Amino acid sequence: MSSTVSTESTVATDYPAVQLFIGGQWRDGGARKSLVVHDPASGKAIGSVAVATAADLDAACAAAQQGFDAWRKVPAFERAKTMREAARLLKERADAIARWMTLEQGKPVAESKAEILMACDIIEWFAEEGRRVQGRILAPRQSGVLQQVLKEPVGPVAAFTPWNFPINQVVRKLSAALATGCSIVVKAPEETPASPAELIRAFADAGVPAGTVNLVYGNPAEISQYLIPHPAIRKITFTGSTVVGKQLAALAGQHMKRVTMELGGHAPVIVAADADIARAAKVAGTAKLRNAGQVCISPTRYLVHNDVRQAFVDAFVAVAKGARIGHGLEAGTTLGPLANPRRLSAMQRITDDALTRGAKLAAGGQRVGVSGNFFEPTIVVDAPLDSLLLTEEPFGPMASVRGFDKLDDAIAEANRLPWGLAAYAFTSSLKTAHELTQGIQAGMLWINQAAAPWAEMPFGGIKDSGYGSEGGPEALEAYLNTKSVAVLNT
Ligand code: NAD
Repeated sequence: MSSTVSTESTVATDYPAVQLFIGGQWRDGGARKSLVVHDPASGKAIGSVAVATAADLDAACAAAQQGFDAWRKVPAFERAKTMREAARLLKERADAIARWMTLEQGKPVAESKAEILMACDIIEWFAEEGRRVQGRILAPRQSGVLQQVLKEPVGPVAAFTPWNFPINQVVRKLSAALATGCSIVVKAPEETPASPAELIRAFADAGVPAGTVNLVYGNPAEISQYLIPHPAIRKITFTGSTVVGKQLAALAGQHMKRVTMELGGHAPVIVAADADIARAAKVAGTAKLRNAGQVCISPTRYLVHNDVRQAFVDAFVAVAKGARIGHGLEAGTTLGPLANPRRLSAMQRITDDALTRGAKLAAGGQRVGVSGNFFEPTIVVDAPLDSLLLTEEPFGPMASVRGFDKLDDAIAEANRLPWGLAAYAFTSSLKTAHELTQGIQAGMLWINQAAAPWAEMPFGGIKDSGYGSEGGPEALEAYLNTKSVAVLNT
């Protein structure tokens, strides 16, 4: 782990004043108010983002209704062409956008670039899949009757997305909406606004009709309170914390709006005695550090068979100590700052709580430097089950390691918490893999590999991690209404 941290970007910032995009126009908010955007590596102001007023939100909903009326009539074949063009433009602009993403969010620039290229892949997959939305013809009970099942776009969508993956949290929602013929109002994150605005720009430049895609920023609670009940909006999709997700789902329920919720997680990693320990520590340890652990599917609760526990901890500590901490724009950085000061104080609170309760530190545990939100990769051994680390989602570069003797006990511990998003396991036994596949309560399980959330794979959780999917054909289904039609030929 590097002991000194440079928190300064070595490159002068050209970060923009980010605007709203409503009805095909980039514009400031009606009240001309804006929020300051900070570089999390230095805490310095780098730019601003416009704040939407109620009138702006109303205009966005009206535009989304007009956009829907136009876009739904565009044949799926043509929609796919426009989406592919947006992916091409995004790819062409990836280097410049990655720089802004790193400045606003903190992740190493190679991770920002990878996020953008992954977004291009997602857009392309959804563009193709949108061409395969199919109804069916059913055998009638009476001659002369044509029984059809039609799939129709649900209508204008309101999407709320967080700061950890500024583009990828938007792109799954946007792509599924556009592929099915819906329009969308995106409320993107105020803390990381420039890169998602560039995603929207790629679609605008690719030629989606005015109003099909709209972008707003402002006060998240005020915007959700306004958009969810709005009569033009027919579907809500949210990624963020479980506590906020439950509030928004309740509001959507009052207005009978369709909902997809992609919420928190606390992913277990079960390492069996027969696993390749060096590989498990490298794969799951490296995954822990990705985006400084601010990932809903980040591995967090390592449950390791007692026969191999010490060997695993030693190898995991070596991965943590190999992290190169620094500004995400500096060459060689593998671990950037946390995205906001809230996460930094949460890391300290969770660490202190575990240590007070008798846990041991195998690595890290401290803030790095005095400016910026840097925190050491932290491995906590034997934290008690009621500690904050094992009851709250840490959402940072922090892992718990505990031992187990029987696989059933590890599965029970993996399932103990209310979340059920991602889970991981390492084993060379087919029998163990089968038992894990049957026993783990999670929306996604990766065995002997890091997460691979490709667009074609369903992506979503169960229990307090939410409902609905943001990948695979299920992701399109969430944006479609089903209509049964029977016609008697008289
Ligand atoms: P938070 O719960 O206040 O916010 C999470 C996200 O929800 C943010 O993008 C925020 O703008 C949005 N939000 C908050 N209140 C809202 C409202 N009333 N209406 C609409 N949107 C609203 O907390 P935070 O400090 O930003 O993040 C803390 C926790 O959120 C993390 O510990 C993590 O558990 C969770 N989180 C999850 C994801 C994810 O990918 N599932 C992403 C970011 C944050």
